[in-house]
Amino acid sequence: SKAPVTVTVTGAAGQIGYALLFRIASGVMLGPDTPVVLNLLEITPALKAAEGTAMELDDCAFPLLAGINITDDPRKAFDGANIGLLVGARPRGPGMERADLLEANGGIFKPQGAAINDVAADDIRVLVVGNPANTNALIAQSHAPDVPAERFTAMMRLDHNRAKTQVAQKLGVPVSEVTKMTIWGNHSASQYPDLFHAEVGGKPVAEQVDQAWLADTFIPTVAKRGAAIIDARGASSAASAANAAIDHINSWVLGTPAGDWVSSAVVSDGSYGIPEGLIAGVPATSTGGAWQVVQGLEIDDFSRAKIDASVKELADERDAVRSLGLI
Ligand code: NDP
Repeated sequence: SKAPVTVTVTGAAGQIGYALLFRIASGVMLGPDTPVVLNLLEITPALKAAEGTAMELDDCAFPLLAGINITDDPRKAFDGANIGLLVGARPRGPGMERADLLEANGGIFKPQGAAINDVAADDIRVLVVGNPANTNALIAQSHAPDVPAERFTAMMRLDHNRAKTQVAQKLGVPVSEVTKMTIWGNHSASQYPDLFHAEVGGKPVAEQVDQAWLADTFIPTVAKRGAAIIDARGASSAASAANAAIDHINSWVLGTPAGDWVSSAVVSDGSYGIPEGLIAGVPATSTGGAWQVVQGLEIDDFSRAKIDASVKELADERDAVRSLGLI
C-alpha cells in the first residue's frame, strides 16, 4: 500500500478545521488509496480543543488515518509535511487598523513560512485559507526561499464554487454544466468573478444573462456571500470553506479535468498584466501536480478594469507588508 501523506492543518481546533479534518481523514481530498498522517498546529490555549477533535477523529476509525500529531510548535507541525493547509489566522477585530491586522498575521505566517522552508518535505504544497489569504501566502512564501515559490497558493475556490452555483441556479442547469469559471485577483470584496469565459452548453455565460444581472446582482452576490452567510447562520461559513480547501488540493494533486479549469491564487508570472510575484486568483489547470495558468484569454475593457482594481488591492497589501518589514 502507499506511504502516508503528511498533511499539516493550522488552526486545527477552529470551525473550518472541524469541518476539514474528518473529510481529509476519510480520503476525500487525496483519494481512497492514500493514507494520511494529520499534524494539527494550534496556539497553546487551543491545544486542548485540538486534542478533543483528535479524539473524535480516533473515534471514526478511519481506515486511511495513519496517525495524528498535535503541537503548538510550527517546526514540529511542518516536519516532513507534504501538504500544508494554513487555516489559522488573526481575524480583524473591532476597531483594528489594517496595519495591525497585517502585523498580527505577519507574526503567524513568517514563522510558519520559515518552518516550512526548514523542515517540510521536498514536495511541500501549501494552501493558505486564513485571511487576508493572498497576502498571508505571500508572507509565508517570502520566508521560504528554498521552496519553489509556486508551491505557495491561496484559496479562491470557495468564491469559484459560489459563482458556479449562482450561474447554475440562474440558468436552471446542474452545477456540473458550468465550466471555465474564473475568480480573478484578491479573495476579498474586490474579487472579479468572470462570466465572459465561463461557459454553459459550450457558450459564454455572459451571452446568456443580461448585463445588469451580471454587474449588479451576480458579482456582488458572489463577493458578499460570506457576509450573507454570517447574517443567516449567525456564524461564518465553515463547511463550505473546508470543502473548497479540499477541492483545491484535490485539483492540485490529482489534476483538473480536460476541457475545464478552476480558480487558484498562484504566484504570478506576469500573465494578464498581474505583476510578477503577487499571489493572485487566475484561471488554472493542474497536471503532474503543478498549476498552469490558462493562457490566451481575451480580456475586454469591463473585465480589465475589474481585474486591475483587485490586483491593485493586492499590490497595496504587498507594499504595506513590505513597509512593515514582513516580507
Ligand atoms: P475559522 O476556522 O472559522 O476561520 C479561520 C480562518 O479562515 C479565518 O482567518 C477566516 O477569515 C478564514 N476564512 C477563509 N475563508 C473563509 C470563509 N469562507 N468563511 C469563514 N472563514 C474563512 O476560525 P476560528 O476562529 O473558528 O478558528 C481559527 C483557529 O485558528 C482557532 O482555533 C485559533 O486558535 C487558531 N489559530 C491558530 C494559529 C496557529 O496555528 N499558529 C494562529 C492563529 C489562530 P476571516 O477572519 O476573514 O473570516
